[in-house]
Amino acid sequence: MAEAQQENLIGLTLAEMGDRLAALGQPAYRARQLCAWIYPRGETRWEAMTDLPAQLRELLAASFRLSWPETRRTLVSDDGTVKYLLGLDDGDTVEAVRLLYRYGPAFCLSTQVGCGMGCVFCASGAGGLARNLTAGEILGQAQRLRADLGMTTGAAGAGGRGGATGPAGAVGPSFHVVLMGSGEPLANFDATLRFIEILHAPWGLAQSHRHVTLSTCGLVPQIRRLATLGLPVNLSISLHAPNDRLRPSLMPGVASFPVRDVVAAADDYAKATGRRVTYEYSLFKGVNDSVALARELGRLLSGRLAHVNLIPGNPVPGTGLAGSSGETIRGFAVVLHETGVPVTVRRELGSDINAACGQLRGKARAGEKQ
Ligand code: SAH
Repeated sequence: MAEAQQENLIGLTLAEMGDRLAALGQPAYRARQLCAWIYPRGETRWEAMTDLPAQLRELLAASFRLSWPETRRTLVSDDGTVKYLLGLDDGDTVEAVRLLYRYGPAFCLSTQVGCGMGCVFCASGAGGLARNLTAGEILGQAQRLRADLGMTTGAAGAGGRGGATGPAGAVGPSFHVVLMGSGEPLANFDATLRFIEILHAPWGLAQSHRHVTLSTCGLVPQIRRLATLGLPVNLSISLHAPNDRLRPSLMPGVASFPVRDVVAAADDYAKATGRRVTYEYSLFKGVNDSVALARELGRLLSGRLAHVNLIPGNPVPGTGLAGSSGETIRGFAVVLHETGVPVTVRRELGSDINAACGQLRGKARAGEKQ
């Protein structure tokens, strides 16, 4: 069987691995052993799975593949941020970013190749949506980044140039995930939820739901669906405008959802999960950064279980947009603070390597050299 046609085991649940093994006449406990190799240890070499009989390893090697995205390029920032361009099995690429915080590493992962939402300020949507990522491809990004931090015991993954970014010293087993790379996670709902399941499961990467942040442009029905699941995952809503006059011009893909419906869905999410919702507000000069809009945002959000994260707008060539000045951002924050809404200004990590989402893939597609 050609390798490309073999099923990738990365992305399967424990139960599914049990099914695959049962079809090969194997007992169910083998699935646990396999998960332990594939997920926490990040092993991609069958021959290293020494508690599996040699015959079974050969059978598995002939039937399945274990494939993570491979590192095509990395950009390393002075502050330890590493931006990855990762190659998928079909040759397309996605970006992922590793950030190092005091509390440990955070991995910013993509959920789609490109994006269909068409936000006018965003580089990821420039070419539209190419395709959804599978859960295995989302998880594979995390595995690649974990391997480079020495968080796996397996090889750095078949086919990749792991370790290219150097070990960052001893790192504990836990990490944070932010789904803020390319793509709209709630437009790829099932794969995103499956990814979160594997990330959280004791047979998977055993990470707390509280270490996961899902960022969405505000797809109301999917936010409500997520709320019914009651997972204590952090929800970030990309708002960027407090009213329906301005927001659709910046975020045409969600023009059909009025701001008040987005906020109501987020309130329900906060209620269902007990988690405070974060509103992301990227500031662009002369577009959405006026004092009047800060007051309007304050009126919209005061009294809710919410918090605003102001993001300096990152200018993407061709959009004609410029980021607001530091002074304007601070002024916006003060006005918001006076309305009683908790507000922070995002610390920019990796600004020297242009870590804004979608920009590296865009350059790779355009054939531009870094
Ligand atoms: N689709 C999801 C997650 C991806 S984008 C979402 O919309 O939330 C992650 C965040 O970066 C979003 O808040 C997005 O609006 C913001 N963003 C995208 N391009 C930006 C830019 N050029 N400058 C500032 N923020 C940007």
